[in-house]
Amino acid sequence: SRIAELVTSNLREIPDFPEPGVLFRDITPLLANGPAFRELIDLLARRYDGRVDAVAGLESRGFILAAPLATTLGVGMLTIRKAGKLPGPVIGVDYALEYGTARMELRPDSVAAGDRVLVIDDVLATGGTAGASVRLLRECGAEVVAVSVLLELEALGGRARLEGLTVESAVSF
Ligand code: IMP
Repeated sequence: SRIAELVTSNLREIPDFPEPGVLFRDITPLLANGPAFRELIDLLARRYDGRVDAVAGLESRGFILAAPLATTLGVGMLTIRKAGKLPGPVIGVDYALEYGTARMELRPDSVAAGDRVLVIDDVLATGGTAGASVRLLRECGAEVVAVSVLLELEALGGRARLEGLTVESAVSF
């Protein structure tokens, strides 16, 4: 697809970041390419037009995608954040990392019951971050329309962890 082309042709791969043995996929060249970034947002907006009441960005690269997508769609943008960043009251969901745990948080007053919400992030890896975010939204009575990512790292099993959800990735590795 054209979205896949835009992503793959504007992607940087950085070995051993943030730790030895990890190949980090970096979308900043896409963000820096004005026409490509605009076309990506326009194509995503076309896909979700009329189907969502809000776009939820996952901290922090998800914010960069969610904000222009929400404004193009003419809907609101929600921020789902790492622990301790949102002023309260918040609800939180903990999830397991390879070593230890992490927590995502949401202000319940930012979502209305019945809202159709699109979740967006740059990369889907184990699905822990997106899975916790979906639980937060559902706890507020929202309907998660889809989890949309630019890149999916298939070997890490994120899609299986998000079973029952629509997961849309532009490119999978
Ligand atoms: P997960 O929770 O294991 O699915 O990891 C997904 C989260 O980690 C997302 O918020 C991503 O931004 C981040 N992430 C994991 N791997 C990469 C990568 O290679 N490049 C950029 N972000 C990544």
